[in-house]
Amino acid sequence: MRIKTKLSLGVGFLFFLIILMVGVSVRYISALANDTQKILVANYNTIDYSRQMLISLDKDLTNEHVIKHFEENLFKQQNNITEQGEKELTDKLAADFENLKNSKSDKSLYILIRRDLTDIMLLNMQAIERKSAIAQNTAKTATSVVAFTGAFCFILAFTLLLKLPGSIANPIKELTNSIREIALKNYSKRVNFESNNEFGDLANSFNTMAQKLEEYNSSNLATLMMEKKRIETLINNMKDPVIGLDDNQRIIFINNEALKITGLKLEEVINKLVVDVANKNDLVRTLIDEMESSSEANDAVDNQLKIFADGKESYFKKEIIKIEIVPTAENQTKHIGNVILLQNITPFKELDVAKTNFIATVSHEFKTPISSIKMSLQLLENDKIGSLNDEQKSLLNSINEDSNRLLKFTTELLNITQVESGNIHLSLLPANCMEILNYAVNATKTQADQKNIQLVIEHDQEIPKVFADSEKTAWVLTNLISNAVRYSYDNSKVLIKIERDNSMVKFIIKDTGPGISKQYKNRIFERYFQVPGSNKEGTGLGLAISKEFVEAQGGRISLESDLGTGSTFTISLNALV
Ligand code: ADP
Repeated sequence: MRIKTKLSLGVGFLFFLIILMVGVSVRYISALANDTQKILVANYNTIDYSRQMLISLDKDLTNEHVIKHFEENLFKQQNNITEQGEKELTDKLAADFENLKNSKSDKSLYILIRRDLTDIMLLNMQAIERKSAIAQNTAKTATSVVAFTGAFCFILAFTLLLKLPGSIANPIKELTNSIREIALKNYSKRVNFESNNEFGDLANSFNTMAQKLEEYNSSNLATLMMEKKRIETLINNMKDPVIGLDDNQRIIFINNEALKITGLKLEEVINKLVVDVANKNDLVRTLIDEMESSSEANDAVDNQLKIFADGKESYFKKEIIKIEIVPTAENQTKHIGNVILLQNITPFKELDVAKTNFIATVSHEFKTPISSIKMSLQLLENDKIGSLNDEQKSLLNSINEDSNRLLKFTTELLNITQVESGNIHLSLLPANCMEILNYAVNATKTQADQKNIQLVIEHDQEIPKVFADSEKTAWVLTNLISNAVRYSYDNSKVLIKIERDNSMVKFIIKDTGPGISKQYKNRIFERYFQVPGSNKEGTGLGLAISKEFVEAQGGRISLESDLGTGSTFTISLNALV
């Protein structure tokens, strides 16, 4: 039943009950009034008329007024015949009164009329008694009927009171609870109102909405699950090890390759704090080593690792990628975790090693013939063998220069192979700084003379010995002075200083050449790097080798330069204490 109809019927029914009560009460009250009225009109009046006639009878009947008063009441009585036998008694009274009017002195007639009147009064009094009993009966019935109807109405109204509010409030309550469940994402919630009223319609609409939400949710969930599976499979199939961490540094995913190289099992790492895993696993510890230090910087950290796994040595390039997102409806980026990516560079490393070996072999093989060429040149220059004309001498000079250059290249290549293979053979011994410097200056003197460049040497009175590999340090200094001369203008000066700086000894080579622009300052020590537009004669290896040689001895090399102001290279080596 529709709620509107239900409410209308409920309220209407209450109205009906009120009307019923009023109707029943009015009916019985009017029945009682009717009964009383009957007594009053029919019997009380007769008694009154009879009393008036008795009074007139006691007065002087010779008086016309008394007679008239009697006749008036008699007349009223004649018109108020209500009881059985009353008419006969009244007719007899009228006849007796007629007789009395004719013989007023007849005392027996008085007695007769009085008897007539008392008979009439008695008859009416009996009627009053009877009618009063009827009225009492009516009153009793009225009390019972009104009480019964009242009780009936009360029960119905009470039932209505109990049922009606509940029948409206309960579905609303159930619906409210269901809406709350939906808000908590319990989309399987349904409501069942087995009725055709407005709540039924509401339940149907609600269920349709819940079903659609459930479908939408499950279809979205399925898509997301599918996407998650796809990404997991993708990560798992990657040949490079990958480990994903959330913002609490918990491992949220790790692929098979990463498990293989770490020797861990999935259940040992997933959802575990990476620090806890690192405590038990050296490799994981190495992997997260720089993560904290890199957390400040935005750039991903990368470096190389040598890992022994699966029965062989592999090389990996580590990269820690910070994952940042802009959450929906926000505009600030939020750090949600890191991905540790290990790029397998073993094939490149193997190629690199092959290349280094090749260069080492080739440069080593080159060195012997070049040395023998140089020896032959020296023999040819010797007058004992035979004198040369000027043209032959100039040819020999250029052969000498070329073979020197070739020897320099070959030596550089040999050195770089040492650096690349990590096999720098050092013989660290106390060494005299001035001796090393003199060697380097002598080696570059001819080159400086050719450009008329003066090599100015300055040094402290007392220079301590350094703990260094003399040969390699001499090579570095030669390279730096040679560069300074090469890049300086003709007829200029190159200042070479040695000074003590606490526990270090500094070799400073300062030229007045074109200088090096700031943007190349950090790249200048990279292998094969040459400043764009500079003299392309060299290999770009000299400074890279110098850096490696100096650092291998526990020293430092630095550059101070600006375009147009010349360059100052400084080597710091450990002083002997
Ligand atoms: P190269 O054999 O090419 O000189 P280096 O490693 O010795 O290789 O030098 C690398 C680059 O640095 C050079 O190509 C040159 O451009 C720059 N460079 C080195 N020394 C100087 C210098 N004293 N003045 C200006 N540029 C220099």
